[in-house]
Amino acid sequence: MECKYCKKKFNPISKRQKYCQAQCVKNAWNKRNSEYLKLMRSEYDRRYRKRHPEKVYLMNKEYLKKKGRTFSIWNCMKQRCYNKNSKDYSNYGGRGIIICDEWLNSFDFFNSWARKNGYADNLTIDRINVNDIYKPDNCRWITIQEQQKNRRKKDL
Ligand SMILES: [Zn+2]
Repeated sequence: MECKYCKKKFNPISKRQKYCQAQCVKNAWNKRNSEYLKLMRSEYDRRYRKRHPEKVYLMNKEYLKKKGRTFSIWNCMKQRCYNKNSKDYSNYGGRGIIICDEWLNSFDFFNSWARKNGYADNLTIDRINVNDIYKPDNCRWITIQEQQKNRRKKDL
């Protein structure tokens, strides 16, 4: 006879014995229980999200807040450069403005560059050469006013 839990061969005392030892009965029971609980939890989660979309929205917002402002900057940058449905795509991705691989693939990389290179909550990311891509040596943190001034100069 093969134990239903550990698959070891054993000699059953009675025909009804399905497990080789008491511990295997216990383990099998726990396993079934935890699978059931997991299922219940995910089902509860699914129903909860469906019933309370506004709470899910707030949870996501809270999550972004915890990640910090640099995370949303990184996110917006990716949208501008790679999401064809983004309203700014034509001025960025559409013009070949992309993001260097290190930044694109890792928020942590971008975040640590930002913290080491003058990031502050009132500043925005700016490309020094507007025709070049987002990469460490082409980017700096400036105020929105400065950025608008530069843009006007470039337009002239
Ligand atoms: Zn067993």
